[in-house]
Amino acid sequence: MDAGRQVKAMSAQHHRRKTCRLCGGTELSLVLSLAPTPPANAFVPAAELGREQARFPLDVFFCETCAHVQLLDVVDPRVLFEHYVYVSGTSPVFVQHFEAYAAFVMERFSPKPGGLVLDIGSNDGTLLSFFAKAGMTVLGVDPAQEIAAAATARGIETITGFFGADMACEITASRGKAEIITANNVFAHIDDLAGVVDGVRGLLSPEGVFVFEVSYLVDVFEHTLFDTIYHEHLDYHSVKPLIRFFAARGMELVEAIRVGSHGGSLRGIAQLKGGPRPVGESVAQAVAEEERLGLDKAATFRRFAADIDALKAELGGLLRSLKAEGKRIAGFGAPAKATTLMYHFGIGPDLVDFIVDDSPLKQGLFTPGMHVPVLSSAAIAEKKPDYLVILAWNFAPAIIDKNKAFRDAGGKFIIPIPKVEVV
Ligand SMILES: [Zn+2]
Repeated sequence: MDAGRQVKAMSAQHHRRKTCRLCGGTELSLVLSLAPTPPANAFVPAAELGREQARFPLDVFFCETCAHVQLLDVVDPRVLFEHYVYVSGTSPVFVQHFEAYAAFVMERFSPKPGGLVLDIGSNDGTLLSFFAKAGMTVLGVDPAQEIAAAATARGIETITGFFGADMACEITASRGKAEIITANNVFAHIDDLAGVVDGVRGLLSPEGVFVFEVSYLVDVFEHTLFDTIYHEHLDYHSVKPLIRFFAARGMELVEAIRVGSHGGSLRGIAQLKGGPRPVGESVAQAVAEEERLGLDKAATFRRFAADIDALKAELGGLLRSLKAEGKRIAGFGAPAKATTLMYHFGIGPDLVDFIVDDSPLKQGLFTPGMHVPVLSSAAIAEKKPDYLVILAWNFAPAIIDKNKAFRDAGGKFIIPIPKVEVV
């Protein structure tokens, strides 16, 4: 595809916002420009290898008005999820997390028995099932038709669609106000966040609470999780901009608690403005920590970008020199974030022969854009690479542990982040 046509095709599939998603500010500074990538989950079958995949800008902006860190390039969800390899969220760890989550909310806020709990982005209804067990009336909302239908079939009534002010009106009219509204890992995915919070304000009872979990910018920054930056994740939330955002929409952030899920998340709790709860110390503590790290300044993220580029140079140099020595290199793990890592670090088919992944859904497919084949881990014993670059580097200790035979045969692992290590 020639350059002109490619740009034209892209413009129909994505748009660039001109304002901050949280405060509407227009003074937005580019702080981190990652290599453009196709959608991070767009793994392709062999039959489609001839079709070039469109790449979209992956530029991170800092709002000089409220300090919110975000992508302004919004890829059409239809493009984003076209090749989506759905991995069910119902792993035992996930279920346990949601059980503890529901228990925390019930204990902390003692909602009216039988009151309504609404979960935005309710997926298969796992979280709501624990609220139902605790005697609450539950209702899910999820845009994925099949998942919503499956949840309803197992007794967790789920509306198919996008939550916003209109849906909030309909639910209020048919069922009354909600005591609890939850939203987990959806706050980073929605371009119209203001619309969602307007819906929450419309549906929440005067004593009600809104509880949400999102990946926390502090963790992204402290643990160099730059590869969690991809088009599905529009926002990288911190507490300071959220306080202002909720206040502008008639709500109040009353708690900001750090939790361990997804490599480090923030559990925020908000109520209607003037609600019954005082603002907890956790909010001021989180803001103080964010300021200590300099997350309210654009310069901090420019330094972060420089650190990432230093890693890129070091890893690229290592892989190229190994290749020049005739070593054979493969990758381990093909999570969505590997797409960002591979593109930004330039790890393509010229450096890695194949990638192994334990998910049968990805085996036999090819990585987004670069089209490196994804195989089962049996390929390690068959093809005997000399080095395995751990692309799912947050699981490095477990992966190294599990692949003793590879190590015993003289194989070495390369960990790319937070520093380049050969093990
Ligand atoms: Zn802003």
